[in-house]
Amino acid sequence: MAFTIAIDGPAAAGKGTISKAIAAHFGFAHLDTGLLYRAVGARTLDGTDPIDAARALTAEDLAADSLRTPEVAQAASRVAVIGEVRAALVDFQRAFARRAGGAVLDGRDIGTVICPEAEAKLFVTASAEVRAERRYLELIGKGHDASREAVLADVKERDARDMERAEAPLKPAEDAVLIDTSELAIDAAVQAAIAAVEAQRA
Ligand code: C5P
Repeated sequence: MAFTIAIDGPAAAGKGTISKAIAAHFGFAHLDTGLLYRAVGARTLDGTDPIDAARALTAEDLAADSLRTPEVAQAASRVAVIGEVRAALVDFQRAFARRAGGAVLDGRDIGTVICPEAEAKLFVTASAEVRAERRYLELIGKGHDASREAVLADVKERDARDMERAEAPLKPAEDAVLIDTSELAIDAAVQAAIAAVEAQRA
């Protein structure tokens, strides 16, 4: 049985944590589609053409720890505005979405462009300040050098680029359930997300 759960939203809203928890809860496979754009972005930092990089992407490219840096995140959002880059990544995402046993995909355009027919859709968001604080603590926790101001500026810059681009801009699908995690602890956000999927499943 194929069952797709589409989870979209801006950076550091809690999509990753919620998606992993939902996938574990329902026993579904999970794809963090941001990793596809990060892997392409990372290749451009060493001079590779973004469209060539997107067309040549392999599963091994997605495993690198180095994809989690702010530089790679910025490079990802720059390559994500290119229509040919997005087009090169569509088939892989759609095939993953329809795999037997169910799938959770998280990103920016899953419910709107990649899987408009998804059986359940969530849009997970939070204020820019709350998201920046979470990302700051995560970076510091991993031993990266970071300042609160720089992280907030980075989050706002990426939001603007993701929401204003012509191709597949970040926005909630009309039939997505909105979850604002600004004032929710992780457990409460996960419970709200599971309840929303259960309601859409019924
Ligand atoms: O989710 P993550 O922060 O890893 O995404 C990195 C960048 O990749 C985003 O800022 C966005 O520009 C791009 N992206 C996208 N579409 C997706 C997932 C990510 O454009 N489905």
